[in-house]
Amino acid sequence: MSDRYIDFANSDLGRRLVGAVGLPSPARLERWQAGRLRPVEGALLLGGGPLAAKVAAFGPRLTAELFSFADEALGLPAWVAGLGSKLKAVVFDASAISDSDQLKQLREFFQPLLRSLAPSAKVVILGRAPESLDDPQASVAQRALEGFSRSLAKELRAGGTLQLLYVGSDAEDQLEGALRFFLSPKSAFVSGQVLRLGACVRQVQDWTRPLAGRTALVTGAARGIGAAIAETLARDGAEVVLLDVPQVKDDLDALAARLGGRSLSLDICASDAPAQLLEGLPEGIDIVVHNAGITRDKTLANMTPEFWDAVLAVNLKAPQVLTQALLDGGALHADARIVLLASISGIAGNRGQSNYAASKAGLIGLAQAWAPLLAKTGGSINAVAPGFIETRMTAAIPFALREAGRRMSSLGQGGLPQDVAEAVAWLAQPGTGAVNGQVLRVCGQAAMGA
Ligand code: NAD
Repeated sequence: MSDRYIDFANSDLGRRLVGAVGLPSPARLERWQAGRLRPVEGALLLGGGPLAAKVAAFGPRLTAELFSFADEALGLPAWVAGLGSKLKAVVFDASAISDSDQLKQLREFFQPLLRSLAPSAKVVILGRAPESLDDPQASVAQRALEGFSRSLAKELRAGGTLQLLYVGSDAEDQLEGALRFFLSPKSAFVSGQVLRLGACVRQVQDWTRPLAGRTALVTGAARGIGAAIAETLARDGAEVVLLDVPQVKDDLDALAARLGGRSLSLDICASDAPAQLLEGLPEGIDIVVHNAGITRDKTLANMTPEFWDAVLAVNLKAPQVLTQALLDGGALHADARIVLLASISGIAGNRGQSNYAASKAGLIGLAQAWAPLLAKTGGSINAVAPGFIETRMTAAIPFALREAGRRMSSLGQGGLPQDVAEAVAWLAQPGTGAVNGQVLRVCGQAAMGA
């Protein structure tokens, strides 16, 4: 469903009215277009500690316009506030900040540039995970970065986003993959997120087809977010296997044919689903995306056993049973990437969704519980938690609630299925084993559960 308010707020008349009355003014977000090569099209400013030099080394692969913040040490032209070009992206390395006095570096670095950000600018702050540091002072200062990052993300205008990446000392070689995602329009609807990067021995070989040579299974792929995930994984070079219920076989077959993939018509809750799945994947699988999901909303006082059972069975039990079957059947390849579609309802809770929120919180638990097991073979398992995404599921929400869902986020709008798909595709990359057992929200920094 299209969001007509964005069109209105970005029209000449709308801009004037929205400004005068103080209504929310969601920007038109820039998104990744097929055929684009560089993650950043415009000026990228680097500053801060030693990791900025690491980024400068591969920076020319990110953009043609690299600048430092008056720091000749990086060997880059200096960017001067008010004189230089508008900034499309900014990376600040805060990893060397080792006590609370030094936190003022954040204000000193960011304040002069905030009025020079281009529309849909991407900001990334780098740090060290507080729990990895022996010095309590340093640990406190690094923890403080979270509050700063989430606040500044809320202050950005015109579709700007900001994330904090805690980079392990053994994970610096995975920075490029993470920045290719967080500095590009692929992360258009991701903001205010905090992720940890750990060691990963695998690297992406070809950035134009990062999933080449990998086979990916997507459940619930006939429509909505699942279809977008299948398209995006195929775009990135994966061979795709699309799964959905037999009732939508025609749609599923048509999409699989268009993507040069295969289809599997299967109810993931059927008693013989594990056996059918193994039979359908004789060569095994590298990437599994558990996307199929349903809602049966009722307050708990009115919740029927059927509503409760159906949601728990599809959303939580089936991903557990099928993943276990793939493991037991030896079908899950080494370095496997598993992505679970959770929801911000599973983080914040949502009235009328006790069954759905339980299932989605359970998926987050699944990612956390299985991460060590997957890591033993170089694998990873993570959850993506979408916020309000424009799909059939959200089109069915009553108007007033739908409007509230759209606007109550820093970006003031709903996301698109493509936004969720880009996050899944990034987590599916060989190098993104650096992220394991974590939750990535794709929610425009929704107020809910933030
Ligand atoms: P959708 O209803 O449009 O599509 C879900 C797909 O899953 C359908 O094609 C359906 O046939 C399939 N499916 C359902 N039960 C199945 C079963 N038993 N076996 C096999 N396939 C089955 O939903 P969507 O909006 O695209 O959501 C996709 C996922 O993202 C879901 O897990 C949903 O909970 C999650 N999510 C969506 C939103 C949103 O705003 N749309 C927000 C948060 C999370």
